[in-house]
Amino acid sequence: MKLDEVVISKAIIESYKDKLVEALDVDVAIVGAGPAGMVCGYYLARAGKKVVLFERKLSVGGGMWGGGIMFNEIVVQDKAKTVLDEFGIRSRRYAPGYYLADSIESVSTICSRAVKAGLKIFNLMTVEDVMVRDKRVNGLVLNWTAVEMAHLHVDPITMRSRFVVDATGHPAEVARIIERKSGIRLNTRTGKTLGEASMWADVGEETIVRHSRQICPGLYACGMCANAVFGGPRMGPIFGGMLLAGEKVAGDLLKRLSARAK
Ligand SMILES: Cc1cc2nc3c(=O)[nH]c(=O)nc-3n(C[C@H](O)[C@H](O)[C@H](O)COP(=O)(O)OP(=O)(O)OC[C@H]3O[C@@H](n4cnc5c(N)ncnc54)[C@H](O)[C@@H]3O)c2cc1C
Repeated sequence: MKLDEVVISKAIIESYKDKLVEALDVDVAIVGAGPAGMVCGYYLARAGKKVVLFERKLSVGGGMWGGGIMFNEIVVQDKAKTVLDEFGIRSRRYAPGYYLADSIESVSTICSRAVKAGLKIFNLMTVEDVMVRDKRVNGLVLNWTAVEMAHLHVDPITMRSRFVVDATGHPAEVARIIERKSGIRLNTRTGKTLGEASMWADVGEETIVRHSRQICPGLYACGMCANAVFGGPRMGPIFGGMLLAGEKVAGDLLKRLSARAK
């Protein structure tokens, strides 16, 4: 059989179009494919929820690929080892309470398991705005990253979601859009994002999980973004908190979604 380039093109366009149309009305939309966003997406998809994730970059994985100072090893603490085990990521004990895993195996396995569980990931798409109705976040405004990079005047498209998760890491991009444009008060001490504090691994790892929660109606913070919003310290190259944050936000959302379904 001779290969026909037009058939190849049609296959890609038709399949992508169907996937994108399906993504326009979902249970949960996650912004950012770092470890926190992908773990959150995995647990939601595994529970049968309709969940999509939008990632600005070509590759998923956020800041996890580089481990610490580009040494591609990650460290996790006792509590987070269970998440590594859930994904089937191999780890080894370095010292009591400290486990090591290969960052490449970690990112690729989390991504693979999440997609196989049913998470739909759209890379090369930037979330540039949110949809707000009655003081509640209920969707996202999307554009191609290439449009953003080239500063083209091209209008975005919009999707609807029962809940949105900001997993954009340090910049906390969705929370900052809300702060700038919506007039909604965030659930922080000042009603605004508090910004991240200086490095303190022990405290940062605990606060990142506690802070991974609802920021305002319809919007949750997850992962590094949560410490940026609620004012926790950065924690350096230990990644357990990101994994546990994703698991926690997924658990919170599953409760909210089942309550809404009743
Ligand atoms: C400057 C810098 C400092 C860092 N300092 C620390 C530190 O102190 N402690 C620490 O543990 N780690 C640090 N890291 C590493 C890393 O950010 C985190 O450890 C970890 O990867 C955070 O996981 P996450 O899933 O919360 O977010 P990330 O891994 O950062 O992933 C966020 C993802 O969201 C995507 N994204 C962002 N905005 C949008 C948008 N509008 N639309 C679509 N996608 C979007 C990004 O492209 C990225 O892939 C740092 C990274 C950077 C770049």
